[in-house]
Amino acid sequence: MEFAERVQAVEPAAPFVISNLVSELEADGADIVDLSVGQPDVETPENVIDATKDALDAGHTTYTPSDGIPEVRESIAGYLQDRFDLHYGPENIIVTPGGKHALYETMQAVVDPGDEVIMIDPVWSSYEPMTQLAGGEAVHVDTAPYDFKLEPALEDLEAAISEDTALIMINSPSNPSGMVFSDAAFEGVRDLAVEYDLPVLSDEIYAELMYGDNEQRSLATFDGMEDRTITINGFSKTFSMTGYRLGFMAAPTDHTTQAGKVHSHSVSCAANFVQRAGIEALDNTDIDGFTGDMMETYEERRDLLVDLLAERGIDMPVPEGAFYAMFPVDAEDDMEWCKDAAREAGVGLVPGKAFGTPGYVRASLVESKDRIREGIDRLEEHGFL
Ligand code: PLP
Repeated sequence: MEFAERVQAVEPAAPFVISNLVSELEADGADIVDLSVGQPDVETPENVIDATKDALDAGHTTYTPSDGIPEVRESIAGYLQDRFDLHYGPENIIVTPGGKHALYETMQAVVDPGDEVIMIDPVWSSYEPMTQLAGGEAVHVDTAPYDFKLEPALEDLEAAISEDTALIMINSPSNPSGMVFSDAAFEGVRDLAVEYDLPVLSDEIYAELMYGDNEQRSLATFDGMEDRTITINGFSKTFSMTGYRLGFMAAPTDHTTQAGKVHSHSVSCAANFVQRAGIEALDNTDIDGFTGDMMETYEERRDLLVDLLAERGIDMPVPEGAFYAMFPVDAEDDMEWCKDAAREAGVGLVPGKAFGTPGYVRASLVESKDRIREGIDRLEEHGFL
């Protein structure tokens, strides 16, 4: 069989390469401190589980309107208004199987072969492959020299813009670095988008997961951005619903009209009973209580990891949101380093190369403090630190 060049050019998602390896090792009886997976280690809220069962019992197992059930789109619009001061109506929303598909649909809708998409490193490992699958090319702006802060790299961002630029992508709080954009960073992106007349995709999937007093600001609330921002969010991280596959895009209707074609011709719609669980999650969950408890736990783990690494002479930018942390390692090939760390030390981490920042690894803070301590001890014992 012969395969399309644009598909052959893409590598499998690196976090899954490591988590598959971890699963194989575990199946062989190994004990792995698994910091490779990108999903919260807390249970989905009980009311959401109950609503899912009720929706199944009520027979909500058919197709829905392609863009989503009207009630869920209304709940999403209300949620975005209440939590982030975003003014979207139900007509601006497409409900997708995961935020990931909203990203994919956007790429397919916006990127032509030969177009460029600007992304800020370290960057989530699916943005570039999604760009390639649409026939486009990723252009990277590196923030690693600036402790993962965008402000000092705004000139680099401007230099990356060309006449082929189709889209700028931002993600705050960030997977993998956990960094949160300052107002100056958002304003810098806004100024360039307006000056060069470019759309911006703002991936806000971790918007509810902030440490301490950090607060989410949504790009579309900045002057001049409402008509040029595609906001992506979802239920996976906020409500610990990764397996439900439920997310959404909120964007001007000219965008949702085009992306909606990709949506209806690929997935038809998000699962009916899953959308109904989404209504329950948004309308009847104590979001501050749920995410507050989650972030309290992650903050303790983050502080522990930062301290344990500092004790070993490793400094790292301290994450401000999400549940990831990136630290530097001494590795020629960080994918090999991560595979060896899993096999020899029994610790699952994801290589920085997958995020455009070789020389770092990403830890998800999804194991207990004792296990994180155990993981760092093991890495040291086996000569990885
Ligand atoms: N965006 C970022 C930055 C992510 O890290 C993820 C998942 O890890 C997603 C989007 C997509 O999440 P989901 O498809 O589960 O909604």
